[in-house]
Amino acid sequence: MRSHARIFSVLTSLSGRSVIVTGASQGIGKGMARVFAGKGAKVLLAARDLRRAEAAAEEICASGGIASAVDADVSNPEDTDRMAATALARHGGIDIVCCNAGIFPATPLAEMTVTDWDHTLDTNLKGTFLTVKACLPPLKARGQGRIIVTSSITGPITGYPGWSHYAASKAGQLGFVRTAALELAPHRITVNAVLPGNILTEGVGALGPEYIASMTSAIPQRRLGSVEDVAYAVLFLASDGAGFITGQTIVVDGGQVLPESPFALR
Ligand code: NAP
Repeated sequence: MRSHARIFSVLTSLSGRSVIVTGASQGIGKGMARVFAGKGAKVLLAARDLRRAEAAAEEICASGGIASAVDADVSNPEDTDRMAATALARHGGIDIVCCNAGIFPATPLAEMTVTDWDHTLDTNLKGTFLTVKACLPPLKARGQGRIIVTSSITGPITGYPGWSHYAASKAGQLGFVRTAALELAPHRITVNAVLPGNILTEGVGALGPEYIASMTSAIPQRRLGSVEDVAYAVLFLASDGAGFITGQTIVVDGGQVLPESPFALR
């Protein structure tokens, strides 16, 4: 029993590692930042609104973690370069990058403008590329690294009216992950994705009680996920124990994609 506990702690110890989490001022990203800091990592929380990102970092510091914030719009290459430089300056390098920033505005296809499309793709897909590109030199310099992308079940596995641009961005992330994994394998940098189902965050809360009730009834576990549900999957992919896993996905959805029909849930 004792040796099992020791092995588990080795797998999950991230003491001193430098972690960047984008979209970390709330929701899933904030949960990831909290979980990484709880394992001893030094975490840089990035979001557009610096005040909210700083408040999230202060919460982590108040409970004994090492965290700070930077304002960065992931769709802007100057911002992602400055974000990577900030991690380098504050933490001496970058070990783990969580490309998590994302938006999910709902718009029916017939009403969708080019601006709507570009805004979602620029944030979710181009933002993933820009974040990885900016962090690559310091990741390579470390001789190993971890990149974990927050995709979604929507796009790679399922569809939902109003989210054609979102679904395209989330499926696109997986294409990016597979080729980036190949290119970065010689540098011992793994690239994987988590595919959350419905996770109770500020962003999902804003979709309203009717949406949440309908999703709860569609999930076999009869609950929405917590941000920790996703964060612990990400923590595993970031651990030393996951070093031989690359270009892969983990679905974190309480079984939502499993039923063949609504009757399967009765
Ligand atoms: P959320 O509660 O709306 O939080 C989004 C975070 O992203 C905020 O910190 C926001 O801060 C930041 N952000 C938005 N646009 C940004 C940009 N251009 N540059 C940098 N940061 C930006 O969202 P969430 O529910 O936690 O979702 C997080 C990720 O999980 C997204 O990629 C989403 O697609 C994915 N996901 C979520 C669910 C779910 O059920 N919650 C399911 C599947 C996938 P600022 O506004 O200050 O920038």
